[in-house]
Amino acid sequence: MVARQLLASGGAWLSLGGTQILLDPGPGSLVQATKRKLDPAKLDAIILSHRHLDHSGDINIMIEAMTDGGRKKRGVVFAPNDALDQDPVILSYLRSFPEKIEILTEGGSYKVNDVSFTTPIKHRHPVETYGFIFRTQHHTFSWVIDTKYFDKLPSYYEGELLIANVVMLNPKVAVDHLSLPEVKMIIEEIKPKIAILTHFGMNMWRARPWELARNLSEETGVSVIAARDGMKFDLARLEGVSPEASSGLARFE
Ligand SMILES: [Zn+2]
Repeated sequence: MVARQLLASGGAWLSLGGTQILLDPGPGSLVQATKRKLDPAKLDAIILSHRHLDHSGDINIMIEAMTDGGRKKRGVVFAPNDALDQDPVILSYLRSFPEKIEILTEGGSYKVNDVSFTTPIKHRHPVETYGFIFRTQHHTFSWVIDTKYFDKLPSYYEGELLIANVVMLNPKVAVDHLSLPEVKMIIEEIKPKIAILTHFGMNMWRARPWELARNLSEETGVSVIAARDGMKFDLARLEGVSPEASSGLARFE
């Protein structure tokens, strides 16, 4: 999907009460962001869930863009340790450009302005990988990043909004990714107001994610949305009130 860019792989741009966070800048992140009038020079933080290229491909250029090529020391980069040690995806020469680099660990909590987030559990994935619970002044939402499904996985996440990386249509024992039936179990346990499916593999894509999402809505009673390139989701939808004074969440996967 990434190599052919059947879906864009630039990650997600979180705009939370004035705080700008880029999550998982995969290949094309810079192009997708500027195309959508999102200015990387305004980023407060870049978060990397894990070092795989579909999540990290553009992280170096986005660090450069956030810091005006290193001329302005600003912003924070969050990444697991193995994105920085041997065979690093974050180049050494630009590690002094951001204000700091913070290492993600299991059970960690972090802050960017008045947004906080936690990395509750190390995921089952070939490299060190974390999902996130984000808390703003008004909302809590979880993003379940790549992982093999495991017992109690849903119990680590919470919130009115659940975003899940659904790579596979059906579970495959040998692949460390979530499948649609597993994400259904997560939705049924967390019972968010809204769930967003994203990060589709080829079989998911061929099965028309928007139709799968509609079926899942009927089966679970939770409003399930299939993400699409450039989709913008306003967190005010969780309140059922006017979007004024609220934060928005745009994604460009
Ligand atoms: Zn991965």
